[in-house]
Amino acid sequence: MPFSTVEGRDLGDVRLFTTSTCAWCDKVKELLSENGVKYHYIDLDILDEEEREERVEFLDSIYPKWGFPCLLFNRKYLILGYREADIRKTLGLSPASEPKEMGVEEPIREEIKKIMERLQRFSEKKGASLNPETAITAKLIDGLLENQERYGYWACPCRLVAGNREEDKDIICPCDYWEKDVAEFGACYCGLFVSKEVASGEKSIETVPERRPKRSS
Ligand code: SF4
Repeated sequence: MPFSTVEGRDLGDVRLFTTSTCAWCDKVKELLSENGVKYHYIDLDILDEEEREERVEFLDSIYPKWGFPCLLFNRKYLILGYREADIRKTLGLSPASEPKEMGVEEPIREEIKKIMERLQRFSEKKGASLNPETAITAKLIDGLLENQERYGYWACPCRLVAGNREEDKDIICPCDYWEKDVAEFGACYCGLFVSKEVASGEKSIETVPERRPKRSS
């Protein structure tokens, strides 16, 4: 499957490696589109196995600790995660000015609201919190539900899923890594769960490096 192209200003070769369920991948796409940038993207989770392996090998050859979203600029600069300031700087976009008016947010489905309440109770019991940014949290939960439909379990929406429970058991949400990541970085890898300090605004979310050990294919 070739990259899909979104037309716009040609600032160089902007390539995005994403998953179709990753809310942060969507945010990078939105940032580029809002700034009228031409870019190419590919959702690795919906590729067939052979092509997925090829793309993964390519990314591994550049930086073995890559993760989603992964932006490669001019085959030289790699930006992992939704790092708006870094993306703007690398692509030569003007810095973000005032925080954007959110406008009318999409209404959150009842099903998702109920899951949010349940996950909030769960995280509080563990001394953490659900990410209070409801728009991103709702999208992440939507990704979990999409994966439930595809694979039959809540596979992490921000990671590559093998599609069988045995191989994916460590990344079934809440994954084996979330508590350590919240304790160390203030958020789980996807930013669905955050620390109390992040939830209260005392600290901001850092990019969380992938803690999951690399799997041999
Ligand atoms: S807890 Fe783990 S599986 Fe769940 S959203 Fe966060 S990183 Fe993904």
